[in-house]
Amino acid sequence: MVKNSLRMLLAGLGIGPRIVLIFALVFSSMGGLGLVLMRNSLLPAFERMERDVALQSAWRVVSGFEQHMSSLADMNRDWALWDELYFHLQRADPVFERSNFGPEAMQSVKYHAVLLLDLSNQVAGFGSRAFSGGMQAQVQDLAVPLLERLTVSPVQPQRTECGLARVARVLSAVCWTGILQSNGQGPMVGTVVMARELDADSLKDIARFAGATFTLEQLGANHTPVSAQGAWTLPALTYLSNTQLPAQFSANAIAMQYLLHDLNEKPLAQVRIHMGRELMTHGRNVIQDVLFQLATVAFATGLVLLLTVHWWLVHPVSRLRRALAKISHTKRWDKPLVVDRPDEIGALTQGINSLLSVLRKQVDALEETSSTDALTGISNRRRFDLRLDDELARLGRRTGALSLLLLDIDHFKRYNDRYGHPQGDAVLRQFGALLGSSCRRQDLPARVGGEEFALILPDTDEAGAKAMADKIMESLATLALEHDASPTASVVTVSMGVATWSVLQAGGDETFYAQADKALYAAKHLGRNRVCAYGSPYVPSL
Ligand code: GH3
Ligand code: MG
Ligand code: MG
Repeated sequence: MVKNSLRMLLAGLGIGPRIVLIFALVFSSMGGLGLVLMRNSLLPAFERMERDVALQSAWRVVSGFEQHMSSLADMNRDWALWDELYFHLQRADPVFERSNFGPEAMQSVKYHAVLLLDLSNQVAGFGSRAFSGGMQAQVQDLAVPLLERLTVSPVQPQRTECGLARVARVLSAVCWTGILQSNGQGPMVGTVVMARELDADSLKDIARFAGATFTLEQLGANHTPVSAQGAWTLPALTYLSNTQLPAQFSANAIAMQYLLHDLNEKPLAQVRIHMGRELMTHGRNVIQDVLFQLATVAFATGLVLLLTVHWWLVHPVSRLRRALAKISHTKRWDKPLVVDRPDEIGALTQGINSLLSVLRKQVDALEETSSTDALTGISNRRRFDLRLDDELARLGRRTGALSLLLLDIDHFKRYNDRYGHPQGDAVLRQFGALLGSSCRRQDLPARVGGEEFALILPDTDEAGAKAMADKIMESLATLALEHDASPTASVVTVSMGVATWSVLQAGGDETFYAQADKALYAAKHLGRNRVCAYGSPYVPSL
């Protein structure tokens, strides 16, 4: 199935586009795989890191609130283990009261209100100073929430407890401890309660400590929790027992909400911690950069591959193909292809050259066979015709002489009848050999019919042709082949017709061959065993 579709896809494409296509397929699947792997492993890792960083920031913010309460708790504990306070609760001392709860004394302390309760939770002392907003706590502002809390969880000696409360509508940390002697010995004589405002400076300190931005929203009693996309959990702290941290995500920010409860576990305020998502954005950018770089590398590699394949393969192969097409078109098997490369293409070209030389030899052999007369071994009619055309064409381009000799053995039918056909063949062979040995290198002897022969004599005028004819006559006479059935002589004789190119010009529209033939006919007519030249007085006009 896949194989078939790949085959269909590749059909008709050249090597270059095929390689590019395969490269694109392989790289895009690798790229896709890489993308999936990156998305499935890198992004979750970035998400985990982002979550850890967010949780740490949130934890530092919440710890800031805890820290605020802790420092108040320390002061509160110091008071609770103060012998003078212990004695004051046993027997009220107005001087002590004035110097510690009086307006002047309150101006120099770090808390905003202090309340003393005796063992039956009756107010035994109170002092306060104005909050940053100008309001000032009254006894009941502190006593009411605390007493409600104490009904559920009474004061324990040696244990400081803290929480948040709205004191005179001001968000404050509140701590309380049972009063003992400084050595921790009892019995407990009352409770010391302190409140300290969570003012703007404190919030700034928290933000600085946490390194995160947050806002604080006061909540009414009918607050409904917000819906969140993630519920993260913080470790429990000493005074703040809420561990839930609902979080909401947007494209470039995370908002976490920490709910602050009052002393009686009612929603009091909400801390909204804000965090940018630079880490995730950075992570996504890293993935995009990596993908972009991979794509660039792939593109460059593909391009280099394509150019290399084109330069080393496609280009030389098409050059070879063009050269071969030219050879098939011109049929010039004799010209080998140029081998100018030491690589496989060079080896292929050499291989093609070897094939071409085999082809050339076979073509030459065929050419030779198809142009040679099987009986006599000299040229046949086919080569004769071609050569005559060539010579005539050559003469058309330059001046010069050309003669043609047509030879016909006399009374050969009778020879066959008398001596038999095989003996006739032997005579034909001998005559062919005689012709071959009589002529020059540039001449062409041929057997053009049964017992008819021809001799093309380039650069030969009529006199030269006649001389050649006479020479053949003499040679044949020397052979003295017996022919006692011939009415002409007792030996085999031959009649010849000669035509010469210069005569052709005067010869009107008759072909060169026809002129030689006419001369031959004349030789026969005049009694055989002779040479007649076309245009001579012996050749009758037919
Ligand atoms: P002429 O003097 O008028 O040329 O008479 P001729 O008998 O030579 O001419 P004709 O055309 O009447 O006969 C030609 C003979 O040549 C007929 C045929 O038997 C013979 N011949 C043609 N080809 C061959 C061949 O390949 N071998 C043999 N042995 N004889 C051949
Ligand atoms: Mg004949
Ligand atoms: Mg004959």
